[in-house]
Amino acid sequence: KRIPLIAGNWKMNLDHLQAIALVQKLSWTLSDAGHEYSSAEVAVFPPFTDLRSVQTLIEAEKFEVVLGAQDLSKHDSGAFTGEISGAFLSKLGCKFVLIGHSERRQYHSETDETVQAKVAAAWKHGLVPIICVGETLEELETQGQAAVPVAQTIAALSGHETLGEFVIAYEPVWAIGTGKVATPLEAESVAKAIRAAITENFGAESGQSRILYGGSVKANNVAGFLASGEVDGVLVGGASLDAEEFAGIARFQ
Ligand code: 13P
Repeated sequence: KRIPLIAGNWKMNLDHLQAIALVQKLSWTLSDAGHEYSSAEVAVFPPFTDLRSVQTLIEAEKFEVVLGAQDLSKHDSGAFTGEISGAFLSKLGCKFVLIGHSERRQYHSETDETVQAKVAAAWKHGLVPIICVGETLEELETQGQAAVPVAQTIAALSGHETLGEFVIAYEPVWAIGTGKVATPLEAESVAKAIRAAITENFGAESGQSRILYGGSVKANNVAGFLASGEVDGVLVGGASLDAEEFAGIARFQ
């Protein structure tokens, strides 16, 4: 049985002091509600500059919220000004790293090749990549909903000698930050198509990986996505910046 993953991508929001306040409030809210982390894993993805502060807090308070980063370099170390090595993220207690978010593909020209190399870097440094895939509005209109996310998934997982643990986050670009949300049925059918492609190309075990939905997820619409059992969690942007709203999402059952 796959444990649902509730992931909060803060994007470029909250400095390290605001980060501490949010993680504290989130953990307290979940603990007051009697949240069982074994039945829904909760992870936050703060900006790089917040990671050390959040790590320190989580360790000191024994919070069960899990830490992840929003990106990593495909390189291990060296003359790559401004980049962050997966080795550093591992040392900061990160379990997950987002790779190929549509905002990186759009604004930083990340290609399927970049994403593939970053997935390799994540595994090399003991991180679980959350590979983000999804179609733009134009691609939706010309190619339908599943073609692009399926192709991006196969590209990210191809060319590796062996596959490590990974998560796929299906985020239709037209649903990100727009308030336009895919229907649970649409998310379910794309997740099914992605899972079938993974199983066919990389085997049954990889086919058991978690597939998340992202795009305008809120506490009041999350349950629909998780009802079918095809979608194993959510990747939340805006609504993850509010402790009570995000705790409400984690308490979807
Ligand atoms: P919103 O939840 O703000 O639509 O963002 C989704 C997203 O991009 C998460 O990575």
